[in-house]
This record gives sequence, structure tokens and C-alpha cells, in this order.
Amino acid sequence: MAFDDLYQEIILDHYRNPRNTADLSYLSEENAHENPSCGDSVKIHAVVKNETIEKVEFDGKGCAISVASASMMSELLTGKTVAEAKDIIAEFQAVMRGEADSSALDRWGELAALSGVIDFPLRVKCATLSWHALEVTLE
Ligand code: ZN
Repeated sequence: MAFDDLYQEIILDHYRNPRNTADLSYLSEENAHENPSCGDSVKIHAVVKNETIEKVEFDGKGCAISVASASMMSELLTGKTVAEAKDIIAEFQAVMRGEADSSALDRWGELAALSGVIDFPLRVKCATLSWHALEVTLE
């Protein structure tokens, strides 16, 4: 199986069976982060205890990239401290914008599947939408 096919499989798996989804309709629409150019929308809820993220839940709709990215983010950041999560969020966003070396993605397991997105600026917003939403939530 070629690398690209493997990455495609990972993204489609998370898109079809997203992890850590929840009904967050109780959160006001002000908490919905939108990517109008693609139609993606996501709400994020984080349960934080003792400065550690116990749970990341998301409620979103949109393209495969946006849903898969939120799903993978929720898995990666569960169990991290808030400080660790903020560092990873900042680094992920920098990588996606092409401002940091993409080899960082290899440290984050399945997130390497998003490496192909870096070459498509319009899709970068899809990939970073939920990360930005969590960043705001943690503030
Ligand atoms: Zn999208």
C-alpha cells in the first residue's frame, strides 16, 4: 500500500467513525468555529482537571479533513496537561501553515496523515479549525 493510500485510509476512517464526538448543542452558537470557504463548523468542549485534559469532545460537520483532524486531535490531546496541549496546538498550526518543519507530524502518530494538506492552503483551514477552537476553549 502506498503512503498516500495509507494516509487517505486514516483520514477516511476518522471521518466515518470520528472519536470523541458529543452533542454540544447546549453550547451557544458563539462557540461554533466556522470555515466558510469550505462549510466546516465545529464546537469543542474540554474537561480539564488539575491542569490536565481529561476529555476533548467535539461536535462538528464538514469535510473529511476537518472532521478527521478534530477526531485525531481529541485522541492526541486527551491526557496531556494544558501547557503541553497549548505547545502542541501552536506547533501543529505552525506546521500546517508551512512555518515549521513537517517532520513534527511524525511524532503525533496518525496526524502524519495530514502532511499532504500543507500543500493546499485552502485545506489548511479545514485541518486547523478544531485546533484553533480548542486553543480558544483552553484560554
Ligand atoms: Zn473543510
